[in-house]
Amino acid sequence: MPDKQLQLGEDGAFLALQNAWDHALQALAEQANKPTFESWIKTARPVSIQGNVVRIGTKNGLARRWLEEKHLPFIKEVLESHLGFELKIRVELLEQDEPAIMSETLPKKPRPRAKAGDEPLSQPFNRQYNFDTFVVGPTNRLAHACATAIAEKPGKTYNPLFIYGGPGLGKTHLMQAIGQFVMQASPKMRVAYVSGETFTYHYITALREHRSAEFRRRYRSVDLWLVDDIHFLIGKERTEEEFFHTYNAIYDMGRQIVLTSDRAPKDLELDGRLLSRFEMGMLADISPPELETRMAILQSKAASENMALSDEVILYIAQLITRDIRELQGALIKLHAYASLMKTSVTTDLAESVLGKYFAEQAPPPIDAQKVQREVAKRFNVELSDITGKSRTRDVVIPRQVAMYLTRQLTESSLPAIGRAFGGRDHSTVLHACKKIEARVGKDRSFASVLDELSRAISGAAN
Ligand code: ADP
Ligand code: MG
Repeated sequence: MPDKQLQLGEDGAFLALQNAWDHALQALAEQANKPTFESWIKTARPVSIQGNVVRIGTKNGLARRWLEEKHLPFIKEVLESHLGFELKIRVELLEQDEPAIMSETLPKKPRPRAKAGDEPLSQPFNRQYNFDTFVVGPTNRLAHACATAIAEKPGKTYNPLFIYGGPGLGKTHLMQAIGQFVMQASPKMRVAYVSGETFTYHYITALREHRSAEFRRRYRSVDLWLVDDIHFLIGKERTEEEFFHTYNAIYDMGRQIVLTSDRAPKDLELDGRLLSRFEMGMLADISPPELETRMAILQSKAASENMALSDEVILYIAQLITRDIRELQGALIKLHAYASLMKTSVTTDLAESVLGKYFAEQAPPPIDAQKVQREVAKRFNVELSDITGKSRTRDVVIPRQVAMYLTRQLTESSLPAIGRAFGGRDHSTVLHACKKIEARVGKDRSFASVLDELSRAISGAAN
């Protein structure tokens, strides 16, 4: 019985064989009459290639004899013309329950090889996802640099490029930017974008409709293959295996592959052979953007939507939503819609009332602010309740402002969230406190060193 390891271990040659076999089948389908073809030829499949020895397997003895006696010279000729060297072909009997992945290589009704049918399988592109609309910052700089390098010279720099990171951080955007750039620069390039989910769907459909040969032809005819969210393949063994073959076929032809995933290859529970191929290329992670980039993204989005937004509102939203750019943009659109509906202008107060409640659950837990408050109270020798209380005496106001300032520095809390943690003060009070302390830090070195020491104590302190 042919073993699967062997087939896959020599994948390059085997894939070439499989490809040649698809052609042989196509040609045989045109020659043989339909019942003969359906019952005998179609059930045969290539099993392995070692050196110039090719093994073809069939599931019944009659089919084997029929193939050997009637069609071997023809099959040999077609395979040789595709592989480019002389072959020895052995036809063997396979066990009944051999995995059928390679066996359904023929459309039920052989289709004429019309050019249109060979278009690569691709999902549509989103025109907004281009390099011009992509804001670059420290957390996506590497991925962006690799993406532009590849877009300029597909197949010539890094192959594959593997981009990974959490949801809403721009993986699809960058990937589609590569595709659209290439299509524009070289209209002849065959560019296909497909998600792991769609690949799975196409594969299952091809199996069900006995159109695997067409599936393979179309999938393998690309110059630039963009596969989004490949973590979707985890746990789908047969699809993963087909993906592996497709990947190798495209890669072996020197074509460019770009992949995205929500995690690094080492954390993907996929076949090790696939992972080591991913790791041979370039890995680029994207992490959540820092404040300045979030603001730049909001500004760019606002400009493209013709929204007038003050810096204060931009800052407010950028502080409120920190992990997901999709949500960041969603918040902006929501706010815009609300303001135009109510015919009012967008202010921080409006932003707070519209967005605050949607994202309240995202605000960092008050424990962070409490930790700061505890340490500050200890250092300045005041009561914890003074820090959050109403007293305006200088002894209390300074530590309170210091605590707000440090909370802002050391946590990702938004101004309103800090205000809430400090006895329900509003964001402008917090902003004022931060500015005051910042000004003093700039002028007073011993004060600065006290704060430095404090922030180290807080960062090291247990909750
Ligand atoms: P992912 O695929 O990582 O889940 P997407 O590429 O779908 O994320 O991005 C989510 C949204 O955020 C999209 O509307 C995208 O245009 C936008 N986006 C992500 N990163 C950026 C960026 N750096 N600059 C501008 N827009 C971005
Ligand atoms: Mg995506």
